[in-house]
Amino acid sequence: MTMNRQGRPSAPGTVEENELPTISGDRGLDHEEGLIFELGREGMTGVDVPDVQMSETRLGGLRRKGPIGLPGLSEPEVVRHYVRLSRQNYAIDSGLYPLGSCTMKHNPRLNEKMARLPGFGDVHPLQPQQTVQGAFALISELMRWLTTLTGMPAVAMSPKAGAHGELCGLLAIRAAIEARGEKRPRILVPESAHGTNPATAAFAGFTVDEVPATKGGHVDADALEAKLGPDVCAIMLTNPNTCGLFEPRIIEMAEAVHKAGAYFYCDGANFNAIAGRVRPGDLGIDAMHINLHKTFSTPHGGGGPGAGPVVLSERLAPYAPLPLLMHDGSEFRMIEHADAASGGAKPFGRMCAFHGQMGMFTRALAYMLSHGRDGVRQASEDAVLSANYILASLKDVMSAPFGEGPCMHEALFDDSFLEGTGVTTLDFAKAMIDEGYHPMTMYFPLVVHGAMLIEPTESESKESLDRFIHVLRTMALEAKDGKKERFEGAPRLAPRRRLDETAAARKPVLRWRPKDLPQAAE
Ligand SMILES: *Cc1c(COP(=O)(O)O)cnc(C)c1O
Repeated sequence: MTMNRQGRPSAPGTVEENELPTISGDRGLDHEEGLIFELGREGMTGVDVPDVQMSETRLGGLRRKGPIGLPGLSEPEVVRHYVRLSRQNYAIDSGLYPLGSCTMKHNPRLNEKMARLPGFGDVHPLQPQQTVQGAFALISELMRWLTTLTGMPAVAMSPKAGAHGELCGLLAIRAAIEARGEKRPRILVPESAHGTNPATAAFAGFTVDEVPATKGGHVDADALEAKLGPDVCAIMLTNPNTCGLFEPRIIEMAEAVHKAGAYFYCDGANFNAIAGRVRPGDLGIDAMHINLHKTFSTPHGGGGPGAGPVVLSERLAPYAPLPLLMHDGSEFRMIEHADAASGGAKPFGRMCAFHGQMGMFTRALAYMLSHGRDGVRQASEDAVLSANYILASLKDVMSAPFGEGPCMHEALFDDSFLEGTGVTTLDFAKAMIDEGYHPMTMYFPLVVHGAMLIEPTESESKESLDRFIHVLRTMALEAKDGKKERFEGAPRLAPRRRLDETAAARKPVLRWRPKDLPQAAE
């Protein structure tokens, strides 16, 4: 048996089994690097720091007794380390990134340039308000865009991601219900929902009741109506839904929800499919978060903090959280405490210490202004076109459970085309890595067996989509032909082979401790 570079048995017949091991342990022009702590040597440094003329210490007994344990490296070693790390990270800047539901959208460099202008990039949340009037004007303009595009009268800007926005929306709804003197403990969530929806509802203290999906991939509106009652606080529904379909009975559902005295929370993560075309306010929605990091092209998670502003209907607007941005005729003011001066506001509290993610606001507004209203609409239309091109080009070889009609911004396949091949959704997705593609979203939504959810976005060219389609088509045909080599043990060509992802998630090893420095860097 041969071992691969990670010390695991190679799958029979794989490239590695026949591979001549390199002397260095490196491969191609890629280096296999140890941890930076393992590379560092004491006393090595990239800069000359003058000796500190120590007078008497004022730290008393708190003075450090042992070495600090930071790695000492030269400047080129530091540069190489970070460049190497950055190359291990697949990103939208390296190639097509088909994750569905996450919307890995191109981040235009213009946005970055605007966010780095010192007047925006260097503001401090505790600065006197007169000195940040420009930043407030920017937030106010972004609020105008968000309320105009959604047809909703108010927006809370402080939530820091989609899930945080969901919590904000539910807390506003709860405040409105409590103001009516009612208690409504139940929230209805479709079974196709993103995991954050039931998690948010449970976190906010509600019980979650699941609404089934129809065979066509929509929320079962009849089942929803049957579940409504005086104990239902709200429904949480995504539109377009996580199967990539517009909910055709959404207005009817909104009316039923309102008639039952409940509120309609919409998960707006998929707003990028309809922005500029459909105003959620016209559909009867009471609260919806907008993921600026999905719809409006700001970077995701690891690439920067997200932002999840929540638009609110007339009925919920008074309960919006602090702080509130107001204009008193001569200047902007950030209201931090609700009082007689805040015009009847009854904020439920606040979501975070300050005002939200200024850098994300700047990027999102730069994106909106550079596209214009017609451009935002065209981006949505092109995203839908790209997804339909993929669906139409692949549905004869990959099975599309809801493929009879057009989809919205993401194309959904299931694993029935792999039946009897011995290849699973996971194998198929991992084999994509060897072809230079990040896998699509797998096994979500849960209502579809072995789901593969592909969202190409508007920013991929037809040539790029054609290449992607060609690769997936060929893979599907090979799997059906019984050619399993490509799938077994994939990925074979990535820096790491197939990992134990459960163990990595459950028992992550996030800190390195040198053996001889047990107390280091605590
Ligand atoms: C991404 C997403 C969320 C959560 O948003 P975060 O910004 O990641 O917290 C919620 N619902 C759906 C449908 C999503 O795609």
